[in-house]
Amino acid sequence: MAVTEWAIYVETRRPDGTRERCEIGAIRRDLSAPGPDDLGLRLAEAKGLLQQLQIRMIDGQIEQSAALDRRCCHCGLTRSLHDRRQRTIQTLFGTVPVCQPRLRPCPCRRSQADSSVSGGRSRRVSKLLKGRATPELVRIQAELGARLSFREAARVIDLFLPSGVGANHMTVRRRLAEIADQVEARDNASPHRISLSKGGPLIVSLDGAHIRAVPGFQTRHFEVTTGRVDAKERPTRHFAVAPNVSMSRPDTIRNALRAQGWLPDREVIVLSDGDPSLVGAVRTAVRGPVTHILDWFHISMRVRHVEQSLAGLLGSDLEHKGPLDYAAFNVDRLRHLIWNGYADEARHTLPDIMQMAANAVVLNGQQGRARIERFARLVRDLETYLGLNSSALIDYGRRYRAGLPISTSRAESTVNSLVNMRMNKRRQMRWSPKGAHRVLQVRAAVVDGRLADGQLRLTG
Ligand SMILES: [Zn+2]
Repeated sequence: MAVTEWAIYVETRRPDGTRERCEIGAIRRDLSAPGPDDLGLRLAEAKGLLQQLQIRMIDGQIEQSAALDRRCCHCGLTRSLHDRRQRTIQTLFGTVPVCQPRLRPCPCRRSQADSSVSGGRSRRVSKLLKGRATPELVRIQAELGARLSFREAARVIDLFLPSGVGANHMTVRRRLAEIADQVEARDNASPHRISLSKGGPLIVSLDGAHIRAVPGFQTRHFEVTTGRVDAKERPTRHFAVAPNVSMSRPDTIRNALRAQGWLPDREVIVLSDGDPSLVGAVRTAVRGPVTHILDWFHISMRVRHVEQSLAGLLGSDLEHKGPLDYAAFNVDRLRHLIWNGYADEARHTLPDIMQMAANAVVLNGQQGRARIERFARLVRDLETYLGLNSSALIDYGRRYRAGLPISTSRAESTVNSLVNMRMNKRRQMRWSPKGAHRVLQVRAAVVDGRLADGQLRLTG
């Protein structure tokens, strides 16, 4: 046997110069026949050490804070101790039992006016022991709950932190709700940021996503709206809102705009996939006109479907391809025309393309009929799409060359990060609008870095 021991001590150094040392743990290794697992600190050992360190530290902090408040600020005498209240506080490094001291009034009887004691309790200690859990623990439970399922979040916390910290999925859910409501309250309360109207227009990118609803909800799915607001020289602000919650869609968008320095006279550009209700929500949010741009990504996808369908037909074994060859001339120009701001011209070629498809059906009879008709349907869909959004079609090429955004593919990535990871259909999860809304609030705050230290003030 060749056992070596590492003892870990904590030394407290108080402001009055006194010191106190105590051992919080020891680690032993038999080095006569070592294995790879013997190298360095093990997780279980680290958990134990952290928990002991936390207990020591909290104990010392409460003792010192209470000592400061025990001194009467009028006469300088030390108040006598009435009793100690036992309670626990949940921290990132374990649930720690604490003794909250209660103090007797000072004999000088001027203690009513003393700000350091309230109801017999040291104010400094009360400030330390606010709430049942430390803000950092609540924040981390909320963040993990927004990234993983509540159960997974509880397990991950349990894996890395001392036992009892993760609690269960219900705790994670509750903590997430707490943080979500705070994030929202903070958004609602925050005043207008100073507007830098010379910073150019604010760009709102919007997209919707469908989420499976809990059984008993009025519909099987409901739609959440996610998006982002970009302003020059500011980090992106993400937002998300579910239906049937206390926050309306326009309110959520207005808060996000406000956080980015929006004031009523500032220009707002909306990039959307063409869903008129999304654009309408932004109009309501700014209570005025907005510039709507149909995003290039969605146009491009639809044009690509047409192109690919036609390419498939031309490469097939159809007997009569003449009309389709003719249609190809126009299909090849579509992308170029729309990109360069000639969307009207592009639209006018579409009936011609459909006519050629109809001719191809007549010539080929039943052969390939379904495929040609599918092609014609894609062309008709594109025609409808461009027609409905004609006012939102711009010279994409010029805007792109000017370095300005032309696509909500940025909003798509928001949807991906906000919704898909946590609540897409493959996960078989069902959501209430309120539950989904809360997860999305925390998730958006995590993406933006708004959940970081000091950004939120926990109450109660
Ligand atoms: Zn006194």
